[in-house]
Amino acid sequence: MAISAKSRKAIELAEKYGAHNYHPLPVVITRAKGVFVWDVDGKRYFDFLSAYSALNQGHNHPKIVAAAKAQLGRLALTSRAFHNERMGPFLKLLCQAAGKDRALLMNSGAEAVETAIKAMRLWGYRRKGVDADQAEIIVCDHNFHGRTTTIVGFSSDPDSSADFGPATPGFVRIPFGDADALKSAIGRNTVGFLFEPIQGEAGVIIPPKGYLKAVRRYCSMYNVLMCADEIQTGLGRTGSMFACEADGVAPDLYVLGKALSGGLYPVSALVGNDEVLSLFTPGTHGSTFGGNPLACAIGEAALTVLQQERLAQRSSKMGAHLLAKLKTLKHPKLKEVRGRGLLLALEFMIPVRPLVEDLMRRGLLAKDTHEFTIRLAPPLVITEAQADAAFRILRDALSAFPE
Ligand SMILES: *Cc1c(COP(=O)(O)O)cnc(C)c1O
Repeated sequence: MAISAKSRKAIELAEKYGAHNYHPLPVVITRAKGVFVWDVDGKRYFDFLSAYSALNQGHNHPKIVAAAKAQLGRLALTSRAFHNERMGPFLKLLCQAAGKDRALLMNSGAEAVETAIKAMRLWGYRRKGVDADQAEIIVCDHNFHGRTTTIVGFSSDPDSSADFGPATPGFVRIPFGDADALKSAIGRNTVGFLFEPIQGEAGVIIPPKGYLKAVRRYCSMYNVLMCADEIQTGLGRTGSMFACEADGVAPDLYVLGKALSGGLYPVSALVGNDEVLSLFTPGTHGSTFGGNPLACAIGEAALTVLQQERLAQRSSKMGAHLLAKLKTLKHPKLKEVRGRGLLLALEFMIPVRPLVEDLMRRGLLAKDTHEFTIRLAPPLVITEAQADAAFRILRDALSAFPE
């Protein structure tokens, strides 16, 4: 593929000095606004990845940027050894949005998942009465919860876990979308069920109708914490504030990240009720940067934008619009078109990397996941005209995609 000397130089430098733990598309982005990014040669692209849903509010949302700028140069970090006046308002807004008592702030998504694992174990020993070191957490096949040693230890993806063992004990894996499997897997030492309401990294896998309701029922029946990793599905991405909400279900714990900062900064959280969150006491958990004033100023603005601009409703409406158009696409190797809200996917019977690269040439950035699936997840601020223009690019690329 022809790429400019400027792009090539930037790529070569990163490839030479960086670890090769990603396989990026050969595009070098230098600025962004809303649903668009521009490369170093001035070419514009639709961003249909949104940094894996961290950019629900769109790139550089002016209100979030303004909040960040107002805080930068004033106070960025105190550590939790002292109070700062930005944390309280953000926590309050977050808890109100989730309908929960308390939140614990971290930075990356994986750290918030680790926090959830610790919280579930803590609750298991202190409240459920599980014997020391016997706590079990149930997870799903094809899960994606992050990249720490413990988390990859219970992944079913060999690329993620191979040669990173030994795996942390205390996890049991069951098929996703099968509530009976959950019921059978629950034992006396089960403290929690950690799951994604829709599996994002696995290729936008939507569970059968009624699954989350059944999960809620079994978790309540057997005194097991229901812990929804909504790092990717939450905050409007799937057409409601939380994906669990669409099924009329409230989990005990929400794990949030990504769009919690609108993409400006790493901000993550575990959100839940006193029953669990009040078990943390000084010294039991922490993070130097977690809950820092810059993160809180950005997080508060990011949540406010989601609410004020009704981005969950917008995601629902634009998602339905785009899904209906995508369903008209015809290609002999196109297996399925699916999605909810603006978390959409096209699954093929052949590898899609060439299609992804052609889309890039045509001005639309999306990423293949697990070789056969393209995930389509534009910022939720996308307009109907923009969605239609992006659809035309997809349609044209598909008609040129060899069978
Ligand atoms: C991205 C993601 C994570 C991990 O978040 P990081 O910020 O990359 O650590 C965890 N769970 C889900 C569902 C995700 O999509």
